[in-house]
Amino acid sequence: MQAIYQTQNLQKTDEKYLWHAMRGAAPNSSNLIITEADGAWVTDIDGNRYLDGMSGLWCVNVGYGRKELAKAAYDQLVEMPYFPLAHSHVPAIKLAEKLNEWLGDDYVIFFSNSGSEANETAFKIARQYHHQKGDHNRYKFISRYRAYHGNSMGALAATGQAQRKYKYEPLGQGFLHVAPPDTYRNPEDVHTLESANEIDRVMTWELSQTIAGVIMEPIITGGGILMPPDDYMAKVKEICEKHGALLICDEVICGFGRTGKPFGFMNYGVKPDIITMAKGITSAYLPLSATAVKREIYEAYTGSDDYDRFRHVNTFGGNPAACALALKNLEIMENEKLVERSKELGERLLYELEDIKDHPNVGDVRGKGLLLGIELVENKQTKEPASLDKVNKVISLCKDKGLIIGKNGDTVAGFNNILQLSPPLSITEEDFSFIIKTLKESIFQL
Ligand code: PMP
Repeated sequence: MQAIYQTQNLQKTDEKYLWHAMRGAAPNSSNLIITEADGAWVTDIDGNRYLDGMSGLWCVNVGYGRKELAKAAYDQLVEMPYFPLAHSHVPAIKLAEKLNEWLGDDYVIFFSNSGSEANETAFKIARQYHHQKGDHNRYKFISRYRAYHGNSMGALAATGQAQRKYKYEPLGQGFLHVAPPDTYRNPEDVHTLESANEIDRVMTWELSQTIAGVIMEPIITGGGILMPPDDYMAKVKEICEKHGALLICDEVICGFGRTGKPFGFMNYGVKPDIITMAKGITSAYLPLSATAVKREIYEAYTGSDDYDRFRHVNTFGGNPAACALALKNLEIMENEKLVERSKELGERLLYELEDIKDHPNVGDVRGKGLLLGIELVENKQTKEPASLDKVNKVISLCKDKGLIIGKNGDTVAGFNNILQLSPPLSITEEDFSFIIKTLKESIFQL
C-alpha cells in the first residue's frame, strides 16, 4: 500500500515539476520512471522490466550496472575531484592518449561535456584554423538535411531537421544543407555518387574560399539510419580537399563500437580532419565529450597572445572523474572485445531479420554493427512511408512484450517511419534472441 502511495506521489511530483526532454505541459502517460538497471535491462517504479533496445539514447554501450565504472569515478573524486583544463590532470592526459589509440592516428583532444558542445567546439576550431592560416573568409559549413548535430544554436543550425529548428531561429549563421545519401530511396546513388557531387557543386557556387568545412555522421542515425554508398564518405573527403575545407566527422552515436568499428568513419577508409564524440565515451555514466583534431590543425594555433590562441573554455569539460570513468569504460570495451561483438551481432541481426522483409509494410532493414533501422512503408513499390500509427503500433507491441525500441526520421521531410534499435554492445546471447523474437512477433502482428 505504501509503495503504491509512493509511486503515485512521485508520478504527481514528476508531472508537476519536471520538464521532460522533447515535451511540454501536455499530459504524457508513457513516461517511465526507471529505478534500477542492470545489463541491458531497466526496471520501472512499478517493477516492470524492459530490455532497453536503445541503450538509453544510443549511449550505454557497456550496459547498465557496471560497478567498476562507479568505483573509477568514486576513487578519482576522492583523490582529486576537479581542476580546470587550462592546466592539466592525470585522467585527462591518459584519456587523450587512449583516444589516440582508438583513433589510430595523430589527433589532439579538446574535452567538453556533451555532443552538442563537442560540435560547437569543432565549428570554432575550424573557423579559427582558417583565420590562423590567413584565410579570413571561410566561415560556412555544409551539412545534410535529416542529420541531427545537437541542441545548441550552432549545432542546431547544422542540424537538417526543420521541425526541431523553426521556432528557435535565428540560429548560428553560415550553415548550408544538402540532400543526404539514402541508398534505399536512391539506389542509383551507389554508382553516381550524386549526393556527394552536390556538395562539390554547392562549394563551387558558394565560392570555395568561403567554406570552412563539412560536418557529417558516417551514417545518419537520428534522421533514420540512412546508409550511404560505400564510397560516399571518401568522395566527400576528396571534395573537401579540393576546396580547402575541413571534414568534421560527428561520431557522437557512431563512435565507440556502435557500427562494428572503433569509429564509424573506419568503415569507409577515410581520415577526417576533426572528429567529435560523446555518449559511448563514458557509456553515459557521466557527461563527457571530446573534439579530436589532426595535429596540423592544432599546430596552426601558434600564437600565445589574446588574439591568436583558442579562446574557448568550459568549466566542467574533461572532469577528472568523467575521464577516469571513460578510461575504465574503454578498458571494459577492450577486454570484452565489444567492438568486434558489435560487428558480429550486427551481421547476425540482419541475417536473422531477413524474413521480416516478407511483411508488406517492411520496406527496408538496414544497419551496421548494433545500429539497426527498419523502414516501414505503406507500399513496397512506391515506398510511401508508413503511417505514424503503424510505426507507433510496433513500438507499443514491443513495449508490451518488454522491449524498448525507438523511432526517428524527419517530420518535415515526411519520414517518421523508421524503427530503430541500438542495444548495449555487451548484450548477452539470451537477450539478443529475445530482441529478435520480440521484434519479429511485433512486426508480424501489424
Ligand atoms: N550529434 C549526434 C549525431 C547526436 O545524435 C547527438 C545527440 N543525440 C548530438 C550530436 C548531441 O549530443 P548531446 O545530446 O550530448 O548534446
